[in-house]
Amino acid sequence: MLDIQSIRAHFPILNQEVNGKPLVYFDNAATTQKPLKVIEGVDNYYRTINSNVHRGVHHLSGLATDAMEGARAKIQRHINAAKLQEVIFTKGTTDGINLLTSSLAKGLIKEGDEIIISHLEHHSNIVPWQMLCEQSGALLKVIPINGKGELSLDAYRSLLSAKTKWVAVNHISNALGTINPVKEMIALAHEVGAKVLIDGAQAAPHLQIDVQDLAADIYVLSGHKLFGPTGIGILYGKEDLLNELPPYQGGGEMIAEVTFEKTTYAALPHKFEAGTPNIAGAIGLGLAVDYVNEIGLANISAYEQELLEYATQELKANFSNLRIFGEAEHKTSVVSFLIGDIHPYDLGVILDKLGVAVRTGHHCTQPIMQYFNIPGTLRASFAFYNTKSEIDQMIAALQKGVAMLS
Ligand code: PLP
Repeated sequence: MLDIQSIRAHFPILNQEVNGKPLVYFDNAATTQKPLKVIEGVDNYYRTINSNVHRGVHHLSGLATDAMEGARAKIQRHINAAKLQEVIFTKGTTDGINLLTSSLAKGLIKEGDEIIISHLEHHSNIVPWQMLCEQSGALLKVIPINGKGELSLDAYRSLLSAKTKWVAVNHISNALGTINPVKEMIALAHEVGAKVLIDGAQAAPHLQIDVQDLAADIYVLSGHKLFGPTGIGILYGKEDLLNELPPYQGGGEMIAEVTFEKTTYAALPHKFEAGTPNIAGAIGLGLAVDYVNEIGLANISAYEQELLEYATQELKANFSNLRIFGEAEHKTSVVSFLIGDIHPYDLGVILDKLGVAVRTGHHCTQPIMQYFNIPGTLRASFAFYNTKSEIDQMIAALQKGVAMLS
């Protein structure tokens, strides 16, 4: 059992009114709130040890380097990466995917090769692959979904062949909440010799990730969705693969030696970390990982499942003309819905006036909206600091909104 009131006290932002009503923050799939531990850790970095990392002999530079590398080690343990050098700091999930596709574009993908993504992807796991295919002449194939928002594994099997070079799928869909069977999908890809990128943006805040158990070749995530700062993320990659990939960006930090004739690159992880990194962000992400582990991801997901079930049940009980999009058997704490033919934006604006923050629109997943033939949805996404009484507040706000707009 989690003590939610004590947990909420760790998140100062939650204790405020919006439009004269207590804030109900249900936009956690877009970004999560930050506990004091993270806020104070970032503040403390700038107050006491701010300095550039890796190349300083002076005291502060040593402290900043130790703090940043200490955060890398925490993240390595958290995702169970075999080696420290397999953990690359990025700006976030989008940056991690672009790192891989830009690197592959340097001659590693060719005409006739095939790449498989799924119909459930966020635009950031579609567009970079489309760009790679345009540049290389490779073919992009898409795993279809069913009406519940689940991937068809049979269709996936039939798309895989010796031509498949990469598969890129999300662990959890941000728009529908579907938890995809990524371990099985990775094993199937490996059978045909393909490699797999897993977009873990939505999984990191809800599930214990074990990259070795999954056997993921690349696993990317965003710090800000894991209760950490914005502008920081992780790309995990198997060491051999990362050694084969050419660097994404050139600059300082990523070199071994530079002459005008030739540059040699630094060893991992620095080969992929050109320029001054987001030091405060990395430290903040390390503290966020500590925080989540203190609560325990198993406790977090059990409680969030309760919230999901309660919200689904209350929505169904209160609105006869409700449509829920995404009713996968394995699902995380996201409810995407529409009521009657009310436009999601109109209801979202009224909810905001009543203190309830949900997301409206296509959630950067236009192909999913095209599949359901809708302009967008209202999406309520829950974190472990949310409560059933906040869900009641959302239902009451929806009732008012529906009465006004019907
Ligand atoms: N992938 C998924 C599944 C997401 O939900 C998101 C963000 O919503 C992203 C990728 C992109 O993450 P970021 O904007 O942090 O790079």
